[in-house]
Order: sequence, then C-alpha cells, then structure tokens
Amino acid sequence: MASSINFERLARYVDIPPDARVLLERPGQEVRTTLNIVTNGKLLCTDAYLVLHCWVRGPGKGGIRMSPDVDLAETGRLAELMTYKCALAQVPFGGGKSGIRLDPAVLNEDSRTALIKEYVHCLEHYLNSGLYIPAPDMGTGPSDMATIASATRNPESVTGKPPRLGGIPGRLEATGYGVYVIAKLAAPDILGSDLSGCSAAVQGFGNVGRWTAVFLAQAGAKVLAVSDINGAAYCETGFPVEDLNCCSVAELSTAYSRLERDELLELPVDLLVPAAAGRVFDEPTAQKVNAKVILEAANEPTTPEGDAVLTEKGIAVLPDILVNAGGVSASYAEWRQAKSGEVLSREQTFGIIEDRLTRAYDSVRRAASDFGTTYREAALAIAVYEVAQAMVDRKWVPAGAGKGGG
Ligand code: NAD
Repeated sequence: MASSINFERLARYVDIPPDARVLLERPGQEVRTTLNIVTNGKLLCTDAYLVLHCWVRGPGKGGIRMSPDVDLAETGRLAELMTYKCALAQVPFGGGKSGIRLDPAVLNEDSRTALIKEYVHCLEHYLNSGLYIPAPDMGTGPSDMATIASATRNPESVTGKPPRLGGIPGRLEATGYGVYVIAKLAAPDILGSDLSGCSAAVQGFGNVGRWTAVFLAQAGAKVLAVSDINGAAYCETGFPVEDLNCCSVAELSTAYSRLERDELLELPVDLLVPAAAGRVFDEPTAQKVNAKVILEAANEPTTPEGDAVLTEKGIAVLPDILVNAGGVSASYAEWRQAKSGEVLSREQTFGIIEDRLTRAYDSVRRAASDFGTTYREAALAIAVYEVAQAMVDRKWVPAGAGKGGG
C-alpha cells in the first residue's frame, strides 16, 4: 500500500529528506491473521489485520476497528494517519492500527470475549512486546480493552480500559471533548463567533459523535441534527443537552423530526461534524455540502477528490489528524498512568487534551497562514516534518539540507 500523501507538495513548505519520504511512503510492517472461534456450536472464522506504519517516534498506537468493511488497505491508511496524528499532538507514539473484518452485531457477549482473546493470542508478540498498543475504534469499546488487559496481564499493553481497571476518567469522552476544543478555537477564527452563535450537525452518534454533540450543546451551540447508520433526527431550535446525553437517534427522531440519513450532510449549518465511517465526502457528496466549516472527527471522512471540491467551494476543513487527536492524547495519559501509578481525575484528562490540542491548533493555524495553504496541508506538513526529523535524530536517514520546520 503506497501513501496517498503528496510529499512533493509538502516539501514546498518544510524540509523532508528524500530518504525519509522513501520510508514513509510504505508501511513498516503489515500482518494478516485469521481469528477462529466456536460460537453457538459453529465455527466463526474472520480476518484480522495489524499495520505498524512508522515507529520512529515510539510504539505503534491506534485503535482496533471491528467492521465488515475493514481490509488491509484501510487499516494501512488509518495506521499512517496515526503516525501523523501522534506527531502533531506531540505524543511520543508511532502509527499503528488493527482491524477485525466482522459485523460486531453478530457477536453475543461470550463470543465477543472469545474473539478478543483469540485476537490477543494471534497478535501476542506485538501486544506483549509493547510494539503495538491498541485502543477502541469503531465497533470496539472499553470492555474489549479490559479483555485485552486481562489476557496480556499488562495494563500498559492497551488504553481505553474502563476506569476501574486502570483506565482514566474522561477517556470515553476524550475524542468528542477534543472535537469540541477544536470547534471552540476555530469558531471565532473562521466564523467570527463563539460556539453559542453556531449551529451544528453531527453524522454518527456513537462514542465520538454523541460526546461531540453533548459538549457542543453544553457550550451553547445549536445541534440541529444527528444521524446514525439507520437515519437522522432534526430539531430546529437545537436538541437539549439532556436528550443528546441519553436518547438514541430513533428516539430523537420520534420526539422531534425525522430526516433521511444523508440529508444531514447537506444542511446549511456552521459546523458539520462527520463522526462515523471514512470516505463520506467524495466528489458528488462534497458538491452538496452547505456547511461553513467541517470538523473531521472521523478518520479520513474526505476523499482527495472531495477535498478538492470543498476547498474550491471555500469550506474550511479541519483535518482528522488535528480534530480527533483528543483520543490519543488521553491514551498517552492513560499509558503514563499505568507506568507511574499516578491516578488522574476527569478534569486532569480534559486539561491534558485541551493543552495538547490548543498547541496543535495554534501551530496549524499559523502554518496555514504562513504557507498560504489549507489546514489539512499545514497539519500534514508539520507532522511529516516532525516524523522526518525524528528519523534524522535516530540516524535512520541522513539529514536533508532544507528549509526547516516552517
Ligand atoms: P462507534 O462505532 O462508536 O460509532 C459509529 C457511529 O456511526 C454509529 O452511531 C453508527 O450507527 C454511525 N454510522 C455508521 N455509518 C453511518 C452513516 N453512513 N451515516 C450516519 N451514521 C453512521 O465509532 P466511534 O468510536 O465513535 O468512531 C467514529 C469515528 O471516529 C471513526 O472514524 C473512528 O475511526 C474515529 N475515531 C474514534 C476514536 C475513538 O476514541 N473512539 C478516536 C479517533 C477517531
């Protein structure tokens, strides 16, 4: 799998030694394995993938995605994003990701536990050596991380655990909290208003989407629409926080109004937050977007073709490696807690996220303005520079004679 990053363009802004580009263009390691369990008297056999994209800055960090659509190529692209997300948030991890190609809905609690134990069994070398440190992603959650920690007998081997088992308060909300932090910083800069003057729509009402909607509404933003895989709900005056906290999309659409699922993507809102699957904004969908700002809470929700359309339309896109870095920032805090025995509070977790994301946002905003480019290209330029310089520091590659870090 070759990278889709245009290193040639980024090299206009920052020094990227040519040998670093060679190493970054392909993943460092790819593993495909088969998970086999017996459930209800039948064999369930499914593919699983692990990709370590680059570990020059630290062990491979990235969530486990369980979905029928996961494949090695997607896992590789997500591992690559993690390399740059960690660099941008100044978290000393590298990029990793794993995938289990299965619809989680087919699992009951017992078969789920058996499957996760089988995952640990098949990938034990990576988990026990600390080469890869997983966390939740789509289709997995804290109880799966608890199963992993039990199987490895090492709380440092995984993050996103329940707080009673070495997880940190606030980790569950962390990614959504980070999306809110970026929205709070970007709204005055881009829209000239604070969040209380903004309307928002959130696609995907799982872990990331629900918490994003709750934090935005708490800050006074009007969350007009939310969606899940089955449909969308709409409230002209903005959903009350209490309802966002506890209702499903189906319940909201019954109590307020119903929308076709993808109509949400076309609403004329200030902030549109994709928080579901990848590759939502392809060219045709991007043409229909009427939002002013897109906050990429999901990983890779925009295709390169969609990105070109959004840029052409003057829609500001805040990229995934910035917007959803709250999760990995909290994961780093949890990993440190496992090493030190320190016990963090929810407020400390949120403080860590706010601090790292504010610094990352400021550097991206400055770079976008200095380089005269998009937020995405600015964020990638900063992150690729950081990773490439770490390669120089570790003497993986000779230094380039370039223009510094912008
Ligand atoms: P999740 O499984 O908890 O929730 C996903 C939600 O998206 C569900 O409500 C599902 O019904 C909905 N959905 C799926 N397809 C949809 C569609 N076409 N239209 C509308 N809704 C749809 O997953 P999550 O953990 O919230 O992750 C969401 C995204 O955020 C993913 O891209 C993931 O990679 C990214 N992310 C997650 C974390 C994390 O900490 N969980 C961290 C960083 C990035």
